[in-house]
Amino acid sequence: MIHTATTPVDRPTPLLARLLCPPGPAKDQLIIEGDDGVFAVAGRYCVTYLILAPGRVAVVDCGSAADLPLIRRALAKLGRAPAEVCFVLPTHLHFDHVMGVDLLARSLKTPVALGTTSLAHVRDGHPLRFPSGLTALRSLATWPMQGMPVFTADDWRGGLDFGFPWSHNRFRAPLLALPQHGAPLPEFSGWTVLETPGHADDALCLHHARTGWLITGDTLRNFLGGEWNPMVCDQIAYQRTRARLSTLHVSRVLPGHGPTFATPNGLATLPQRPWWQP
Ligand SMILES: [Zn+2]
Ligand SMILES: [Zn+2]
Repeated sequence: MIHTATTPVDRPTPLLARLLCPPGPAKDQLIIEGDDGVFAVAGRYCVTYLILAPGRVAVVDCGSAADLPLIRRALAKLGRAPAEVCFVLPTHLHFDHVMGVDLLARSLKTPVALGTTSLAHVRDGHPLRFPSGLTALRSLATWPMQGMPVFTADDWRGGLDFGFPWSHNRFRAPLLALPQHGAPLPEFSGWTVLETPGHADDALCLHHARTGWLITGDTLRNFLGGEWNPMVCDQIAYQRTRARLSTLHVSRVLPGHGPTFATPNGLATLPQRPWWQP
């Protein structure tokens, strides 16, 4: 069952996004099937997903300090106490997904859950590659597609150490190591952690096999109706990730950018955009 909630305050004008993106901007949305649920919070630079289980919530991605009140409001609307949040999990360490993560985790007194590659970077300084050259230029065009959100004062102050090529990503919240590829997401039965490098070295997806939901971060996006992301740091790894994800039962993609979308034919038939498109 899918409910689209009213959009709360404080977001960049969706006019440009409406003009440039056929699916329109991401919306707050509650998706429920039986005991399983996910709430999409349309944040400032990316979508935050709240994975809902009885008595427990996992927060996936938080791109901006400005998203904290939106997430707290979403929890209140769902009748969930902040103490139910088990961890905050960035799908990958790119600024638009991570600038609010540490702040949120500390305000909720909960750990930051990191995948193996993110953790190796944070703990041991293992470098992470970013999309570069032409593929990075394509990202400039996606900025107006998201309504041209500008950094808030809090993001300038505290966020810049997170998610940029120069960032050290020094989380002050305690860290929680996620299990490796294919293992269950701790405390959320039915959800699996998938390592999906390509867009970023540390990119993760979260898959719920029974319902076919897939939370993708930037591995898939929905600016143009639901597509593979042309912005990658490792083309070969991305092709492998595509092939692997295409074998899964996926009924709905919950992307980091744009609204969620149904995939009645799975992922294998999703388009890859030509080089001249963003
Ligand atoms: Zn990214
Ligand atoms: Zn992103």
